[in-house]
Formats: sequence, structure tokens, C-alpha cells
Amino acid sequence: MTDSNELQKVSMVSLGCPKNLVDAEVMLGFLNREGYEITTDEKEADIIIVNTCSFIKEAKQESIDAILDLADRKHDGRCKLLIVTGCLPQRYQEELCRELPEVDIFVGTGDYPKIAEIIAEKKDMPGQLRYIGDPNLIYDENFPRLKSTPLYTAYLKIAEGCSNCCSYCIIPALRGSYRSRPMERLLEEARELVAGGARELNVIAQDITRYGKDLPGGGTLEDLIRELVTIEGLSWIRLLYAYPDGITESLIQLMKTEDKICKYLDIPLQHISDHILEKMGRRGGEAEIRALLARLREELPELALRTSLIVGFPGETDEDFRKLLHFVEEAQFDRLGVFCYSKEEGTPAAEMANQVSERVKRDRYKKIMKTQARVSFKRNRRLIDGFERVIVEGYSDETDLLLKGRSSRQAPDIDGQVYITAGNAMVGDIVTLKITDSSDYDLIGEIVSDPCT
Ligand code: SF4
Repeated sequence: MTDSNELQKVSMVSLGCPKNLVDAEVMLGFLNREGYEITTDEKEADIIIVNTCSFIKEAKQESIDAILDLADRKHDGRCKLLIVTGCLPQRYQEELCRELPEVDIFVGTGDYPKIAEIIAEKKDMPGQLRYIGDPNLIYDENFPRLKSTPLYTAYLKIAEGCSNCCSYCIIPALRGSYRSRPMERLLEEARELVAGGARELNVIAQDITRYGKDLPGGGTLEDLIRELVTIEGLSWIRLLYAYPDGITESLIQLMKTEDKICKYLDIPLQHISDHILEKMGRRGGEAEIRALLARLREELPELALRTSLIVGFPGETDEDFRKLLHFVEEAQFDRLGVFCYSKEEGTPAAEMANQVSERVKRDRYKKIMKTQARVSFKRNRRLIDGFERVIVEGYSDETDLLLKGRSSRQAPDIDGQVYITAGNAMVGDIVTLKITDSSDYDLIGEIVSDPCT
């Protein structure tokens, strides 16, 4: 730590998915360790870092807009150093260096743990710098991490990269092939997060079901979960991003018997038409997907299922789309995200014939969203007069008279909320609510139990 670092304030904006957020938290950990002060007010920051995403067109545009917006702080704030990290520079370093002279340093997906050294180095070097090398890095528990999520919740990133070959996806090129983190290290980090106040751990990776296959001693997601549930003080374990063919019978049985595992599963399915799934390079087709959903509903009737779909993939016909729309109605997902296919250079799908027009993609997107709003509303209505375990998150954005929270079947940031109209509890308490009303995506209820500790 140097005296000059103590005077420097750093602000971080992290875009994209929770996996990216964990990288941002590791960078903040390194900077904090070196004596930088962290601020959430960009106007008073000497250094601003934008941790970017470049998964699809919208994500890239959002990243560029954020960079241009924050570049203004060099004029109307204290900012002396604007740094861009993550997927965007990993993918477009030449173009960004040319088009964004306001940016002082670009850092790739494999170099972010060196952030403090990079800033120190910049002091002696004029001009724009870039540190963009091999993306095949994996962080271990020795990396400091400054959590940015509320005290009671945390993400546990169990692996980095991806070795699936979905034809539309650029992630493996930006993040390298799948690398599981050793189990002992993950357990150590999980215990630390719980000791620091986390009651909920959200297990993430590009594909959590592949966990352990690349580890020298083996191990599986189920082995990891069996250890996680023994951590005292941990109440909820949530499984996000499960590849459908990796959901084993033993995982289903574990979810059925272990109370700490939230009855929630995020399974990105992308489509239901066999010929589209095949062109997407996905493993498994319609029959396998339907069999899996039936099995999950049979064994875990209270499970909240989330999926994501892509509309407008090259070659998607009206008939394929009708099938998908019908499937959304039929499958009754509790939560669903839809993306318009984004043509990403460097991926096989970008070269495919029969690209679908933007107008048709938007139209299909709207139809799916409209159908799902109806489905979600119906699914939520079924919960009225029932009971839900809810983690209290604070006052609602509208009024200090109303508490809000999330049920065990709602993931942070992406799903709805529960509004609490009666009863008292502290932030981070887990209480039982009687559900009294609902909307398309949110629930309303009253506390009926004392907080459990
Ligand atoms: S599973 Fe497919 S879509 Fe997901 S990150 Fe890997 S390659 Fe991309």
C-alpha cells in the first residue's frame, strides 16, 4: 500500500451477468487491499472502471454507452483515469483503442487480477495502454474479493469459461474453455461468505452441471452441493444456469431431499424445434427436453422453473416459431427470458444462411413475452393463500411503509419481488409469508412467522 493510493478513490460499474460481477468484486478486492478507497459516486472518483459485457448486440451497446457516459466525468468530475475491463476489450481491442481515445487503459478477461499493478504502471507511462492476453485464468480463494451485493446474499462462481459449442455463442472465445475451481477452495470461499453474513449462495458458472469433469480428482456438482449444505448459517443454495442434459437423477433427488436447496432451477433451453436445436449445436432435442421437464414437475411439483429462449435464429421458420410459442404456453415456466438472435462475428451461426430480419425477430420476441406474461400471472395466482419463505431485502422503492423481499423461488436481480404489507422484520431475515395477492411478476403477502435465524 502506498500513501498516494490512499488518496485515490475508485468507482466501478459492472455490466452483464453475475459472473462478470464476481470479476468486478475481485478487482475491488485487489484495489482495496492496495489502499484505494472505493466509492459509489463516480463524480468523486479519481479512477473509474467499467467492467463490460459483449455477449450480444444489446450488451455491447450498453457497454459503449456506459463508457461514453462515464468519460464525461473526466470533464465534470475528478476522474483522471478511465479503465475498461472484461469481455468487450477482450473481443474488440483494436476497434476500441481506435474509437475510444477517452479510455486510458483496456484490460482483458484474463488480466483483471493485475488491476492494481496495471494502475501503478500507468503512472509512469503516457498514452493508452492495453493488457489483453490469454483469457484462460481462474481465480482462487487467495484473490481478495470485496462483495458488492447485500450482506445476506452472494454469488459463488464455481467455474470459468465454457466448453460447450453453441453455434451462436462467443463466450468460449472470450472466457476460454471450462475450468472448474477445486472443491476445497470453493468450500473455503463459501464458508467465508457465510461467516461474512451471506445466508443465500447463488451457484453460478456458464454451465454448473459440468462442474468437476475437468478436475484431476473428479467430483460433481452433486458432491459440491452435499458439502455446501453442511455449512452452518447457510439457509439457501440456489442453482443457476444448468445445461438440460446435465441434470441428473441424483441432482433431482438431492433437490428433493435437501431443504437448503431452493426449489428453483434455471435451465436455458434456447428452443424446442429439433432442427433449430441441432443448428444451435445444442445437445438433446425436443423429446429429451420434454422428458426432463415432466420428470422435474413430477418429482418437484413446487419447483420454480426459469429458462431463456432465442427467437430469430438463422433458419427459424414460421412453423418453428409457432412450435416455440405453443411450447411456452404448454410448459408453464415460472420465469422466462427471451433474446432476439444476435449475429456475432466469429461464431458459426453468423455464417449460416437464412438469417431472419430484425423486424421478424422483434415481432416474435413480443409474442413470446406477451404469452409468458399471461403464464406468469397464472402461475403467481396459484400461490395466493399459500405460504412462501421470503428473505427480507429492505423498504420498497415506492414507500418506507412497505417492506420488500424475495421468496426462495425468486433469484436476485432477474426475478420479481414480494411486497410485504403486514409484519416486521430486519433486512436479511427469512420469514414465512402468507400470499394475499399477485401481479404478472410480483407477489404480495403478510408475515406470519417470526424470523428464523
Ligand atoms: S453453454 Fe452454450 S450458450 Fe452457454 S456459455 Fe456455453 S457456449 Fe455459450
